[in-house]
Amino acid sequence: MIATPSDPTVVTLIPGDGIGPECVGAARRIIEAAGVQIAWEECEAGAEVFRKGLPSGVPPETIESISRTRVALKGPLETPVGFGEKSANVTLRKLFETYANVRPVREMPGVTTPYSGRGIDLVMVRENVEDLYAGIEYLQTPGVAQALKLISEKGSEKIARFGFEYARSEGRTKVACATKANIMKLSEGTLKRVFERVAPEYPELESWHVIVDNCAHQLVKRPEQFDVIVTTNMNGDILSDLSSALIGGLGFAPSANVGNEVAIFEAVHGSAPKYAGKDVINPTAVILSSVLMLRYLGFFEQAAAIEHAVFVTLESGVLTGDVLGYDRGTPTTDYTNAIIGNLGKRTETWTIRDVRPLQLPKIDPRPDYVRPASRSVVGLDVFVESPLSASELGSSLMELTHDTKLSLKMISSRGTKVFPPTGAMTETGDHFRCRFIIKEEPGDLSDGDVHELLVRISTAHSWMHIEKLQEFDGELGFTRDQGED
Ligand code: NAP
Repeated sequence: MIATPSDPTVVTLIPGDGIGPECVGAARRIIEAAGVQIAWEECEAGAEVFRKGLPSGVPPETIESISRTRVALKGPLETPVGFGEKSANVTLRKLFETYANVRPVREMPGVTTPYSGRGIDLVMVRENVEDLYAGIEYLQTPGVAQALKLISEKGSEKIARFGFEYARSEGRTKVACATKANIMKLSEGTLKRVFERVAPEYPELESWHVIVDNCAHQLVKRPEQFDVIVTTNMNGDILSDLSSALIGGLGFAPSANVGNEVAIFEAVHGSAPKYAGKDVINPTAVILSSVLMLRYLGFFEQAAAIEHAVFVTLESGVLTGDVLGYDRGTPTTDYTNAIIGNLGKRTETWTIRDVRPLQLPKIDPRPDYVRPASRSVVGLDVFVESPLSASELGSSLMELTHDTKLSLKMISSRGTKVFPPTGAMTETGDHFRCRFIIKEEPGDLSDGDVHELLVRISTAHSWMHIEKLQEFDGELGFTRDQGED
């Protein structure tokens, strides 16, 4: 039997919704059978908590438990769609600043896919707390919604360094960074720039940038070229589900949410409610998530033993309904029993990685992480709701503001310049962005100047949002629109 430490490690256990309790229960049985001493603190989160009226879906007792244990194994949590409550999953990731979402994708023995034999073995390292998942959204007009995509230099450095450190810990050789920096030069571009800045500190690792749409294409065409992929939150969400389909589906996709203080381990998949309680689902994703957890806790030997047992089980042809069809698959309980029965056996055909402890990146904690030597406000974007045409609105705004410190440079509709007229066929609605630029350059607008401009505009138009146009160290802190000079 495998060696065990004398004191049990305390871990928060969240069974979750739908198929969660079955998956988490299987992982727990296997961990215990492998001889790892864990004292589980069972906690609630998700659907039942929402039903009790708590809008976060995460009760204070669960937050208290994770704050103390610093490690959680969780089942999937249902998310109400479209309105009202936030995702309890996202809440947990953000509350504990688990900024790195690690999603290994590996060919499984015995699981036949169109990619079988090509040796897919990659890890998606997805930024986990920023980007559109900040969930900051507004209806700016009754018919136009806005979502803020927040990406920080500090968050980008954390995830870029984490990706390189993760590659090192698993003895991997290549790290790609996937972004949409060609279009979103400031937000997605931040991760690209930071990744390229820190890459030389990891000279033994080959690194390159790939545009995210091509990354999706390459993942389908030649997935074996990838080792570690570092990417932003939304990209990583999509790419990791895509990648898991290459190796047999979500039933085989584990994940870890890792921060510098807390780590939460869970499957990539959701609560798959239609299979709940039927003893048919594939618990491998949660079992392999628990393998990641055991390595995080330092139980390297036991983690490898469980991974071997899973692979031996799959090699022997014991497969669940998602692989064989639900009329022929091995029930979840029997599959779990088979893995337990195979503990101590070693796979002859699959390699188990020799994993070293992960060195978490230490980033400057000060809030003013980027400190420019100079900065100034050189203009103002005023978002206006108006039934007028772009030309009518432009003429009116020029007249109203002609004797302020700013002049109207252009008006855009959904990012494309529509005033002064361009002769193009851009459709406009009732939502306009009106860009005002300081008349005397170089200069620095005061809040009084901004206020004066808004008072003038308000006499005839309805504005709902403003954005200061800033320069940092002489570089523009904003993008130009399509058609803007
Ligand atoms: P899902 O629960 O992941 O299920 C999508 C499909 O994936 C299932 O219908 C099933 O495919 C397959 N699948 C997932 N897990 C499986 C497993 N262990 N074994 C076998 N097949 C599995 O996605 P969803 O239906 O979009 O989401 C359901 C709920 O889960 C939603 O409330 C969502 O918000 C939530 N969710 C939670 C998390 C999380 O907790 N981290 C993540 C994602 C979604 P077939 O139908 O082809 O058999």
